[in-house]
Amino acid sequence: MQVAENIKTITSRLPDYVTLVAVSKTKPESMIMDAYQAGHLDFGENKVQDLAEKYEHLPKDIRWHFIGHLQTNKVKYIAPFIHLIHGVDSLKLLRTIDKEGEKNKRVISCLLQLKIAEEESKFGLSKGDITALLASEEFRSFQNLNITGLMGMASYVEDENQINREFATLKSFFSELKETVLSNDPGFKFLSMGMSGDYELAIKNGSNMVRIGSSIFGERHYNK
Ligand SMILES: *Cc1c(COP(=O)(O)O)cnc(C)c1O
Repeated sequence: MQVAENIKTITSRLPDYVTLVAVSKTKPESMIMDAYQAGHLDFGENKVQDLAEKYEHLPKDIRWHFIGHLQTNKVKYIAPFIHLIHGVDSLKLLRTIDKEGEKNKRVISCLLQLKIAEEESKFGLSKGDITALLASEEFRSFQNLNITGLMGMASYVEDENQINREFATLKSFFSELKETVLSNDPGFKFLSMGMSGDYELAIKNGSNMVRIGSSIFGERHYNK
């Protein structure tokens, strides 16, 4: 089974403390089942509708990670079951997640996305935005969400020095928060960075959660 083999190979290269999120977006449920039957439980999707469908059909002990750009009006579809929302990038979105968490009587774990890519187009918050957000009264009133770390995406470039620099920026901000405003919060512990092409570099820079798709499931084809 190719998928199971790939997961085994990648896992053997990861330090024990690194969580592997197998990014199954665009891939069929049968491939997820191959990985599941080999014992893998963490999967990542970036479209709410696909995720909701896969959740319906697949075993309920799968831990689903949302790794896309989440719109506030779609939070309700994943709130009942989502394990971790990577890449939260606004107070408005947090407000909705908190509300949906309350409706579902659960605490939803989220990572804040720091914009680290030096190129223009990527989503994410600045360091200043995150600091202000964490200090805000509204944020501190949220009862049904938990910020369990940070997430970032490096630029899609060949230049390893640039990628290295971007990952180092994220790690250093993560450590800074852990040592200052979040020093009393042991739940703040995940640093989600690294994909198929750059996860080794990400781990060297302190990542403890990698999101890997194509190296596990093969190249994606979007033209359907
Ligand atoms: C698609 C995606 C990944 C996985 O990318 P690969 O290069 O296939 O490993 C990781 N993170 C995010 C946010 C993605 O959208």
